[in-house]
Amino acid sequence: MRQLPIYLDNNATTPLDPRVLEAMMPYLTQHFGNAASRHHAYGWAAEEAVDQAREQVAALINCHPKEIIFTSGATESDNLALKGVFDMYAVKGNHIITVNTEHKAVLDTCQHLEKIGAHVTYLPVNAEGLIDLQELEAAITPRTILISVMYGNNETGVIQPIPEISTIARKHEVLFMTDATQAVGKVPVDVEADQIDLMAFSAHKMYGPKGVGALYVRRNNPKVKITAQMDGGGHERGRRSGTLNVPGIVGLGKACELCCLEMVSEAERIKNMRDYLESELLQIDGSRLNGAKNYRLPHVSNISFDHVEGEGLLLGLKDIAVSSGSACTSAVIEPSYILKALGLSDELAYATLRFGLGRFTTPEQMEYTVRHVREVIQRQKKMSALL
Ligand SMILES: *Cc1c(COP(=O)(O)O)cnc(C)c1O
Repeated sequence: MRQLPIYLDNNATTPLDPRVLEAMMPYLTQHFGNAASRHHAYGWAAEEAVDQAREQVAALINCHPKEIIFTSGATESDNLALKGVFDMYAVKGNHIITVNTEHKAVLDTCQHLEKIGAHVTYLPVNAEGLIDLQELEAAITPRTILISVMYGNNETGVIQPIPEISTIARKHEVLFMTDATQAVGKVPVDVEADQIDLMAFSAHKMYGPKGVGALYVRRNNPKVKITAQMDGGGHERGRRSGTLNVPGIVGLGKACELCCLEMVSEAERIKNMRDYLESELLQIDGSRLNGAKNYRLPHVSNISFDHVEGEGLLLGLKDIAVSSGSACTSAVIEPSYILKALGLSDELAYATLRFGLGRFTTPEQMEYTVRHVREVIQRQKKMSALL
């Protein structure tokens, strides 16, 4: 094994693809201009690069380049979408529908909006992590302005029924937003086919750099309007002020171009490795898969191990870099609210591993991981039998 620990936390962040770095380099050095400088060649070079990146991003999700707003990442995109719609559509209503397994970037923003007058419905999920479409439709009122449901879950990989959700939203003339940070670049996401009105995603989850992302905002049928959340120079058509992060945007564009070209074959290759890992680990006594097996992103596997103590498990697994079913919120370790929403006990949530495979994962790494996890769990079970 060339490098330990083996990186299996691609849902947290992906490594930068060397081809993306290469595309970015000139914009960190000689082409340092401000894309808003209209009067000289430095500015023009930067603006041209941003235009090209906007086209590369748009091509990946099948939208018009003018529908892309560059941001600092998916957290900002989620904030801009939710707050921007809440402000803009205040005349129509104040009701937002979302799901209790959303990312904190959505949930915390909704909580903030509740403090300033929003009414938010948090839909539950079933044991597979999926929402109930009838429950969604029943939650809609004349005051509902937005439905926000993530595309693929960051912990379980579960993919919600996006076309069905957007059909319901259309029927009731409610806007539909999706946090597609884990899905864009991994599976085909098409804002026309899926009838998405707003969509957040991020470069560092798809082999691009950190600190740059995008928000898609539909401009036709319907024309979606949002209120800017940052005032300044009126960049990005007045919707997100601030000097553009040109190297970052070039990196996001290149990352999108690579995904466009390689996504289908890459997903197949990663899924094969994921399925191998999963089938091997599910042979361990007391193991179980979390999330709908057949509605999942190809690179994620979330597995719980009954009768195994969570902390010891993670400490023992020194050769693989994975996430567990717990989250450090304000210095205390808490079980994952996403796994709890699927009905897992605190104990089982702690004894959970999230395997996030990626572009640079190899079959040899998977074999090593299977052996390593088996050994650590066996050792743990022996030790607890002695107690
Ligand atoms: C990583 C992630 C985010 C946050 O993205 P940043 O670009 O790091 O702000 C939001 N939503 C989901 C689903 C994510 O996986």
